[in-house]
Amino acid sequence: MPTSELQALDAAHHMHPFTDGAALAAKGTRVITRAEGVWLTDSDGAQMLDAMSGLWCVNIGYGREELAEAAAAQMRQLPFYNTFFQTSHPPVIALSERLARLAPGDLNHVFYAGSGSEANDTNIRLVRHYWAAMGHPDKQIIIARKNGYHGSSVGSGSLGGMAAMHAQGGMPIPDIVHINQPYWWGEGGDRSPEAFGSACARELEAKIAELGEGRVAAFIAEPIQGAGGVIIPPDSYWPEIARICAAHDVLLISDEVICGFGRTGNWFGSQTLGITPDIMTIAKGLSSGYAPIGASLISDRIAEAVNDAGDFNHGYTYSGHPVSCAVALANLTILEEEGIVDAVRTDKAPYLAQGWAALADHPLVGEAVSCGMMGALQLTPDKAGRAPFASDPGTVGYICREISFETGLVMRHVGDRMIIAPPLVISRPEMDILLDRARTVLDQTLDRIRAEGLLATRAA
Ligand SMILES: *Cc1c(COP(=O)(O)O)cnc(C)c1O
Repeated sequence: MPTSELQALDAAHHMHPFTDGAALAAKGTRVITRAEGVWLTDSDGAQMLDAMSGLWCVNIGYGREELAEAAAAQMRQLPFYNTFFQTSHPPVIALSERLARLAPGDLNHVFYAGSGSEANDTNIRLVRHYWAAMGHPDKQIIIARKNGYHGSSVGSGSLGGMAAMHAQGGMPIPDIVHINQPYWWGEGGDRSPEAFGSACARELEAKIAELGEGRVAAFIAEPIQGAGGVIIPPDSYWPEIARICAAHDVLLISDEVICGFGRTGNWFGSQTLGITPDIMTIAKGLSSGYAPIGASLISDRIAEAVNDAGDFNHGYTYSGHPVSCAVALANLTILEEEGIVDAVRTDKAPYLAQGWAALADHPLVGEAVSCGMMGALQLTPDKAGRAPFASDPGTVGYICREISFETGLVMRHVGDRMIIAPPLVISRPEMDILLDRARTVLDQTLDRIRAEGLLATRAA
């Protein structure tokens, strides 16, 4: 089918997530037809380097036969069975054992979901149920962060701190509150990053004091914010958060949906950032996106209390789906046997970091930061003043993203921040192409916005 026909049918019948439907219909969607390694091919045969791993998920890269084989074999053997009603099956048992072994500390128990959103919905109910079972039924409030992302269901979208999402459909649900994010470049003002990081963490303590320790169940955060713009907190932030959660008996939920499975150079972002969570949310890289699956990894203490408290009235038809579990197992085997996580830490991330940081000399770049295989470029008309553009946030970022696509590089924009999270298996020559194209994209963006009069700074 020619691209124009695919686009017309798509516009007629397919409603896209997080998309202005009318604008897309006018322009025509990009149709991706195949992928191999880090390379996408569209319906016109154009090739693009996918520096976003799909949606932060294709950690092992595209085209791995082993996962296709694992899915086909499992579909033939047992395509579906549920895990309700005291039943189980070999793939879910094997995956649970494997995850318990890979996870840090005593996170030895797995509750499955079909996605990261569902897993975070589980977490909301789980921590509230846990505290009730422990004799603290008033410990119900969950503290999260502005501009955090935890999914798009009503529960997980409420945990998230995305104002544009809350504006539609009646979110957040009750008893979820948000504190500020540790985004020094944009919000740190005159303070040093370290002073700002500590101050952001202490907002948690102030919020707990305001609400009353007896009412706060948990704090949830991504080790590094992904969808919020790859925001890497100052070093002072996480140790202070950990101290506060421990001091006030508040459970710590680390949302590892992006940071998990090697993205930051360890198996989990918690290990890179020195966090000891009570619960971790996982999805995306768990199956490298080859099949939908998410889960909560749960500590001994919480699992024992919940197991001893009668029925937990919660679950999804596809909790522990056998095909997804088989695919996840094959994915974890590749990550382990090919030493991919170690390679990120010792080789790929340092190489990427060096090249990425060098983009900071570009006139349009306010900061160029990365951790493991995720990075951000803050676009600004005024590097020294850390000032935003006069145009609506995202105007310049969108232009930059469009130029990036035209240049054969898939980057994403969050406002006027450009972000990447390439497959962990990207080679050095491919990273050179990524970096080369990113610089070309910045040059062309600067030319374009200068021509369009968009290089102005917003008045303070
Ligand atoms: C993507 C994401 C989610 C939601 O996962 P879905 O599978 O899209 O439901 C949750 N948390 C984080 C940190 C994410 O990046």
